[in-house]
Amino acid sequence: MALATGTVAERVAALRERVDDVSVAAGRAAGSVAILAVTKKHPREAVLQALGAGLADIGENYVQEAREKYVDLPPCTRHFIGHVQTNKAKAVAGLFDVVQSVDRLDAGLALAKASRDAGRRLRVLVQVNVSPSERFGAAPREAPGLAARLRDEGLDVDGVMAIGPLDGDVDGAFARARETFEQVGGTTLSLGMSGDWERAVRYGSTMIRIGTAIFGPRPAKERNAA
Ligand SMILES: *Cc1c(COP(=O)(O)O)cnc(C)c1O
Repeated sequence: MALATGTVAERVAALRERVDDVSVAAGRAAGSVAILAVTKKHPREAVLQALGAGLADIGENYVQEAREKYVDLPPCTRHFIGHVQTNKAKAVAGLFDVVQSVDRLDAGLALAKASRDAGRRLRVLVQVNVSPSERFGAAPREAPGLAARLRDEGLDVDGVMAIGPLDGDVDGAFARARETFEQVGGTTLSLGMSGDWERAVRYGSTMIRIGTAIFGPRPAKERNAA
């Protein structure tokens, strides 16, 4: 991963170009991979900079941060990528357009109820666990059944999100993510972060989730916070 230099707009432009190059080299169309700007632990200004740089998708891991930052934003799609706590389902359904991290039935049911109560149809992805270093995520073999059940509940299940392993068998993990996406159906395979997005694009990712390569390093202690 190249060290982030320049302004956010310059980094986004350079990243967009590289993503298109890697896509084309993998036999895919330029522009077929969306860049989701992950702004966790960065200020609201970072969100505005990402949108100003032409990105349409932004993501947060924590409800409280989104409450502070997702105020009066220009048009964009807001993605929740953190662990879904059932007691926060109503807040999540109210603050976000897409919930990428539905990894179990009770979280999905709580989101389905919250979105029914709000009179809207929430778009979600099933988070699949393809890595021994990852705590959350449905087992790949359970994902198609979970997706079917959530569709019955009225959620718009649009694909799969997965987090790659910190080390070890990245290819195996990404191959499992793609295979599960094919079984679940939908249009979005959310796969790849600053350190592994090139490989994710080669495995068919349609959305890479990028924080560090756009905004630089986060302040310490963000990992594993609830
Ligand atoms: C923080 C985070 C990212 C972005 O990670 P970077 O390595 O900074 O690009 C992507 N996806 C999820 C689920 C995250 O929590």
